[in-house]
Amino acid sequence: MTLTCVASSFSWAQKTLSNAEPEIFNLRVGAHADKTRLVLDMDRKIDITPFYLLDPYRLVLDMPKVRFKINSTGLVRPVGDVSGYRFGLFDTNTSRVVVDLSKPMVIKKLFQLSGVSNSSTRLVIDLKSVSKSVFQTKSAASIQKRQKKRTPNTFSEANLTSNYSSKKKVDKKIIIIDPGHGGVDPGAIGRAGTYEKNLVLSTAQVFKSVIEKDRGYKVVLTRTRDQFLPLRKRISRSKLLNADLFISIHADSISNSAVRGATIYTLSETASDKEAAQLAERENKVDIISGMDLSEETKEVTNILIDLAQRETMNQSAKFAGLLVPELRKVIKTHRRPHKFAGFAVLKAPDVPSILLEMGYLSNLNDERLLKTDGFKKRLAASIKRGLDKYFDPN
Ligand code: ZN
Repeated sequence: MTLTCVASSFSWAQKTLSNAEPEIFNLRVGAHADKTRLVLDMDRKIDITPFYLLDPYRLVLDMPKVRFKINSTGLVRPVGDVSGYRFGLFDTNTSRVVVDLSKPMVIKKLFQLSGVSNSSTRLVIDLKSVSKSVFQTKSAASIQKRQKKRTPNTFSEANLTSNYSSKKKVDKKIIIIDPGHGGVDPGAIGRAGTYEKNLVLSTAQVFKSVIEKDRGYKVVLTRTRDQFLPLRKRISRSKLLNADLFISIHADSISNSAVRGATIYTLSETASDKEAAQLAERENKVDIISGMDLSEETKEVTNILIDLAQRETMNQSAKFAGLLVPELRKVIKTHRRPHKFAGFAVLKAPDVPSILLEMGYLSNLNDERLLKTDGFKKRLAASIKRGLDKYFDPN
């Protein structure tokens, strides 16, 4: 097949099938009258999962880990309605190509042709223009589809898998409950002497038993004992388990002892962007984004990939918070604005939707008394369970 590309053809073909990982050795963008065409040349067929992201418009192609042998990091200038692209490893098992679109476009056709040359396969993606609302709809659907297709939730720790058959593992939603503080860090201390670290641990255990009555859920606690756990360990644990949701639970203390009620925090856009920048600068970023091998990527690509993951995650986190608020209100007094945004470090797992639940105030005697009761813990657990159900199955 022939392509008339107006610009930007990169071809540094190095075709060897000796490696275990597939190779992509060419990526081209072509502008045509009726479509914009992307062409990827690779040494074999690859399973591609496309999805779309908004603000700005992007087409993302996820695929099993590949070796990019493309001697370019993107476009020098826009080609048709494609203003740029990036590629790289996204996590241990996933490689990713991100295509920037200057207007909403979706895939019109996607096909792979074998035997284009001696040992290559050609992936062709034709994009067509659509309205913003069509793009939004397609984006939501494609993200959902990708989520379902993602690596099944397998536990890396043997003791966590022992009770479950491999079939069930795939179906279960993995919820990480993170009891804040612990060990040398007591957290807040109540007016009547309650330690936050103990309260949140016992509450987390109730959450686990209530939520796991539904066999669709597996709840893993970040700590099961009174031990200190660095924030990064809490996050990396949820990454390790490929968790579906992360809920950190706390019971705050403030100087105004009259204040009571629950608040849900998610990460704010601003804090996230700053964090994304800081993350990329840190030497030990691989610790934070467990399994994300960025050592061979440029700093810029690193930034972009973290930003990409975090934006998507923040939307999901806010969505869960939004669904949880009305459920919480049924069982607990909440703030007038019960959903707030803040830069809690523990919410910064780049690709696990995360919320922080302040259940109430230990600085308020009524809250303190209430929070300690078993009945309250169970009611709270049940409301979270209903929030989870809504989040994972909107119908
Ligand atoms: Zn706390």
